[in-house]
Amino acid sequence: MSSEFGVRSEIKTPNSGLNTPNFRFIADAMLGRLARWLRLLGFDTLYYKDISDAEVLKIAKQQNRIVLTRDTHFLNFRNFKDFLLISSNSTMEQLVEMAAVFHLKSDVSPRCSKCNGILSGDVEKESVRGLVPEYVYLRFKRFLKCGDCGGIYWEGSHAKRFKEKF
Ligand SMILES: [Zn+2]
Repeated sequence: MSSEFGVRSEIKTPNSGLNTPNFRFIADAMLGRLARWLRLLGFDTLYYKDISDAEVLKIAKQQNRIVLTRDTHFLNFRNFKDFLLISSNSTMEQLVEMAAVFHLKSDVSPRCSKCNGILSGDVEKESVRGLVPEYVYLRFKRFLKCGDCGGIYWEGSHAKRFKEKF
């Protein structure tokens, strides 16, 4: 099916069944932007800036993650089929490619774009004063906080546009 996206049709997932939002990913070094957006949309996505294909493969196998890659090298790893070859250059298009293959739904809790930690939504507005730019503090009502690194998030117009498209 979906061969136009270069996906191996036999993609298997730990939870099998394509409608689960529980896919876990690892993006190769060329897909940093995509990884950050996937996290914000709530998908568990690992990304390391300096990582070899072999290391990506090892982590994917250990943790049952699907590899997202722009690199056809993964076609050469025998017996490894859980990857998606991403063809587009644009992050938006890349998300569309993924959504088409995995039927992703963005109704899961967002994750931290920096560390992949889960963001918590019950953050007192007062508590982020001084931690975010003043205009952001004044403009936004709802803030999210990363349970791992403490990063503060708010829903900017950019994120909204992405979500709508998604
Ligand atoms: Zn974080």
